[in-house]
Amino acid sequence: MEIGLRAKGILFCLSGPSGVGKGTVIRALRQLDGNLDHSVSVTTRPPRPGERDGVEYYFRSRQDFEAMLAAGEILEHDEYCGHYYGTPLGPLQEKTAQGRDIILDITVPGSLVTLERFPEAVSIFLLPPSLSELRRRLEGRGTETAAVIQARLDVARKEILEAPRFTYNVVNHEVGRCAEQIRAIMEAERSRSERLTGIAELIMNR
Ligand code: 5GP
Repeated sequence: MEIGLRAKGILFCLSGPSGVGKGTVIRALRQLDGNLDHSVSVTTRPPRPGERDGVEYYFRSRQDFEAMLAAGEILEHDEYCGHYYGTPLGPLQEKTAQGRDIILDITVPGSLVTLERFPEAVSIFLLPPSLSELRRRLEGRGTETAAVIQARLDVARKEILEAPRFTYNVVNHEVGRCAEQIRAIMEAERSRSERLTGIAELIMNR
């Protein structure tokens, strides 16, 4: 679909348990899709080796995060395993106004708050093939301690039960296939007539 025919970009909320592969799938999607941007969140979690400020996250102190919250600069936020995570509002508004689509890597409550604020957003839940595979992926990442992995698996059990609240459920067996499946969802959402108001007149007057 030509970008100019859509009034504004779409928000895609991607949730799913830690270790399911949301970050990897988002990177694959962005390679497949030139109109998709990733919303860079603000977090108080310390960076993992190789993570850069302003790329994977904006890494901020708790005090700075709370100041951003008070200033109304955060669309939604959540506390996950002892750290704050939040979506900066400004870049999201600017990019969608330019017709860019944005994908948010976000907790389940974060997706639900975003959908309340923007009911036209699209919710996608990414599932692991099994809990044992999820544990294997979290351990394989090698970036978290055993205690942190256990805490994330405990949260995962609760999160997976929330999958039916999302419009789309996708199982991440393999990153390439999973990204193709989400890209198909994105293309279908871009073609919904309610996102293309005025298209008939526009085409008639060309
Ligand atoms: P991680 O520490 O593994 O990067 O992220 C932990 C969790 O925080 C993941 O479930 C991720 O989706 C979520 N998350 C990342 N950024 C945001 C955000 O801006 N808002 C919310 N609500 N959750 C986020």
